[in-house]
Amino acid sequence: MSVHGSVSALSLTGHGSTLNVRNSQPGLRYRHPACFRQSSTLAFTRSESMGHAFKFSAGNAPCSRARSNVGRLRVVCVDYPRPEIDNTTNFLEAAFLSSTFRTSPRPAKPLKVVIAGAGLAGLSTAKYLADAGHKPLLLEARDVLGGKVAAWKDDDGDWYETGLHIFFGAYPNIQNLFGELGINDRLQWKEHSMIFAMPNKPGEYSRFDFPDALPAPINGILAILKNNEMLTWPEKVKFAIGLLPAMLGGQAYVEAQDGLSVQEWMRKQGAPDRVTTEVFIAMSKALNFINPDELSMQCILIALNRFLQEKHGSKMAFLDGNPPERLCMPIVDHIQSLGGEVRLNSRIKKIELNDDGTVKNFLLNSGDVIEGDVYVFATPVDILKLLLPDNWKEIPYFKKLEKLVGVPVINVHIWFDRKLKNTYDSLLFSRSPLLSVYADMSVTCKEYYDPNKSMLELVFAPAEEWISRTDSEIIDATMKELAKLFPDEIAADQSKAKIVKYHVVKTPRSVYKTVPNCEPCRPLQRSPMEGFYLSGDYTKQKYLASMEGAVLSGKLCAQAIMQDYELLAGLGQRTLAEATIS
Ligand SMILES: Cc1cc2nc3c(=O)[nH]c(=O)nc-3n(C[C@H](O)[C@H](O)[C@H](O)COP(=O)(O)OP(=O)(O)OC[C@H]3O[C@@H](n4cnc5c(N)ncnc54)[C@H](O)[C@@H]3O)c2cc1C
Repeated sequence: MSVHGSVSALSLTGHGSTLNVRNSQPGLRYRHPACFRQSSTLAFTRSESMGHAFKFSAGNAPCSRARSNVGRLRVVCVDYPRPEIDNTTNFLEAAFLSSTFRTSPRPAKPLKVVIAGAGLAGLSTAKYLADAGHKPLLLEARDVLGGKVAAWKDDDGDWYETGLHIFFGAYPNIQNLFGELGINDRLQWKEHSMIFAMPNKPGEYSRFDFPDALPAPINGILAILKNNEMLTWPEKVKFAIGLLPAMLGGQAYVEAQDGLSVQEWMRKQGAPDRVTTEVFIAMSKALNFINPDELSMQCILIALNRFLQEKHGSKMAFLDGNPPERLCMPIVDHIQSLGGEVRLNSRIKKIELNDDGTVKNFLLNSGDVIEGDVYVFATPVDILKLLLPDNWKEIPYFKKLEKLVGVPVINVHIWFDRKLKNTYDSLLFSRSPLLSVYADMSVTCKEYYDPNKSMLELVFAPAEEWISRTDSEIIDATMKELAKLFPDEIAADQSKAKIVKYHVVKTPRSVYKTVPNCEPCRPLQRSPMEGFYLSGDYTKQKYLASMEGAVLSGKLCAQAIMQDYELLAGLGQRTLAEATIS
């Protein structure tokens, strides 16, 4: 991963540094936005563990705003209360799975589980294993936590991130994790709307507003029906008829669509091409950083299923600050409080094997050899493939990973010399050829809040052709696109708003590219090699390659290890006995 000008906030030098970074309080820089009556009423209180005590002062009521589906934007900066998601079936399932770790009988001999990779999947694996009484040792290659949610602080103290990240109501395992850690108050919930730029009307946006009073899926259907700028009535009707089999056929139908791209499926179902260009280019780029001619239709159907089945499923939240400190550190604190360990600067160089093909140890770049009872790989799939031992490569479970390849994506941050007006306190779909979603983080995120200057964070995708270009070329191209989104405020030559500074973060291999027929290649967390497990957003779980998928994969991995406990505890003793005899 190449990172422009990265200055790590968690930069701990030396090898294998054990983490002891404490959480800072980013809320300190936050000043109340203009539409709050009193700054002192901005009470984002720490919620109780597993409780959901969100304090929403009457003084924080959203300002009234002229309602129309299309038009210019106006900054209205306000957080919404945490939606009622804790009684959904998915949340209850997630909470139950979490509780099984805490309530399981304590192991007679806790397992030492060595985990490679401190992204959300590795952190989740370690957290739930620690909850179950085991001793995880989490080894992260870099000097920063979080993997694809990693972020760095620059010399001015401003943060820049690997990716613009949105937390949805339909992320039950993530939401449950926030509750368990007592950090529900760190999610800044936004208005329940999806807002799309209108390429043919520069500077204008069209909204899908989900009415609060109605249950799912009626609120979603109404949001779609009420929007007449993007799709005409005949287009909506044709698309709805095309979607009928998905609604009636359930999960089996959804899975069977993995063989088709979005574009192929739309044509097969008789949906007008304009439905794809108006809506699904933006959705495909947001979900997987590629266009609908490449993306598997299964991906869209899973997203629609998850987002529209629950009343608050598509409701979005921003983390209130940088993810390493605001999300990853509380997980690390939790792991360490239960006797687990997390080490940065600990890159696994080689998986060394016993004669029977099982893992003997992880060899680190530093030359250190790390042994455990159990081994987990929670790195991106591309790294796992590079480090697979030769005699595992032909095993079908590993062989099929060849089809899973990370997709390139670029995250752009531009600080401007002024506060942009044509923006909103929400995620925005740019519908521009080069860009995907974006947000004015000086508005949407407490820690990045600035009353005088905007910081746009933008996902640049598809990035295949751009990943090897220079940062300044990428910024020039971004500015040309921004001139269309902000015709009154931004010009490509900076004759209007001026760039104060920028950061470009390239991820040449991010989440796996969800092209058709990938689903059968996603591996279960339990590998055929005794004592070796996988965790990561690409492994088999019912959510897409996402933060939710990563956290769930970690739980499923921890669950598989617990289920195999007797075998694994015996394995350690067997190895010890063999070593003693020889
Ligand atoms: C630009 C962008 C925007 C995104 N937006 C969203 C969003 O809005 N919502 C959402 O849900 N998801 C989003 N995602 C996806 C989400 O970030 C990922 O799905 C998730 O974070 C993946 O977590 P992971 O733990 O599976 O993998 P990773 O985060 O990749 O973690 C793997 C870890 O392994 C480490 N590692 C690699 N090699 C080694 C080694 N040899 N030894 C030890 N450690 C090693 C890496 O450094 C890394 O820390 C986005 C991703 C990107 C890139």
